[in-house]
Amino acid sequence: MSHAPSFRISRTLATTGHPACRDCCATERIGRPPWRFAAALALALSATGCATERPPASPARYGLAQAVIGREIAEEAITLVNAMLPPDFSMRLRPTWPASGYFPTLYFENEGGSFAMSYVTDRGFDNGLRFVDADEIPVYLIDASHLGRIETAFVPNGERCVFVNAGSLDRLFEDFFMMGKHVLGQHNSFDKALVLAVVLLHELGHLHFEDDGSYGPPAAFALEEIDRPSRAIANKEVRADRFASEMVNAAWASQQMKSPLDGPYGRAGIASNIFRAIATGANSHDFTVDPQGVFDGVRKPYVFRQSGYSHLNLYLRLLVLAQQINPSEERLNELRWLELALKGEHR
Ligand SMILES: [Zn+2]
Repeated sequence: MSHAPSFRISRTLATTGHPACRDCCATERIGRPPWRFAAALALALSATGCATERPPASPARYGLAQAVIGREIAEEAITLVNAMLPPDFSMRLRPTWPASGYFPTLYFENEGGSFAMSYVTDRGFDNGLRFVDADEIPVYLIDASHLGRIETAFVPNGERCVFVNAGSLDRLFEDFFMMGKHVLGQHNSFDKALVLAVVLLHELGHLHFEDDGSYGPPAAFALEEIDRPSRAIANKEVRADRFASEMVNAAWASQQMKSPLDGPYGRAGIASNIFRAIATGANSHDFTVDPQGVFDGVRKPYVFRQSGYSHLNLYLRLLVLAQQINPSEERLNELRWLELALKGEHR
């Protein structure tokens, strides 16, 4: 690998300073890179001043611009997540840019009652998913490419929205071996959307548990923890991942391979494809990097130590997610080996 992979899927802007306008005074809490992003963000924020009323979250409040690139893949990812979530789960992602028309239409309506989800099947090209009284989570595609390397997606502290860094998407797809020089197969935009869907599910986990900042102490890998329900997990990042795998497992258990809509929108079908995307990342990494020394006889557990910020290594996380969704004895053995090997490196 030419770079240290990391699961750059969550950054929460921590807040300091003025308590009455904590969001607009947001600054980076962590003392690690990207410094350029932190400095630029601080500058942008100081220029905007602090509003007395709290406007809706938008990238402009953080001195960031919305991006055009990545809209279609992000729209597809949002549609897949919304179609896969349990029918009684009120939190739903809402794009903040015009629909492309390539995917089912997402209808959001407010009737002042309880949440309901239904399929719209009588409007031809405008068929789609209707969400009544949803807990809407706006998703913003932001143009942060000039600000240096930041996470692929994050929930700004105290907000109920998700920012996706459009400039980081290609890197994300490379990390999942969906594009770039290490790609092992053909992958289309649907596969990329599945990868982004995993990221969005993780962010929904942060929102579901009302995580106030996703930067805690680095998580240590604990094999005995991976079968715990998300609500019983303390580490925010491990918990958000577990939330994602629980949503995938619930969708798989629905056995709904097809939906009333045209296209791959059955809940179990989406779950199956998301597992495939996760397994592609994990298996391609194993094949390319050969951590267990299958090809060269040299074991390299340290490749799972390369991590970013407070996150566990991407490929360790993918192995865990794959095991949580579709357990296998072979993967469990790899995880057992890794747990021992990584502990050994701490000594
Ligand atoms: Zn996270």
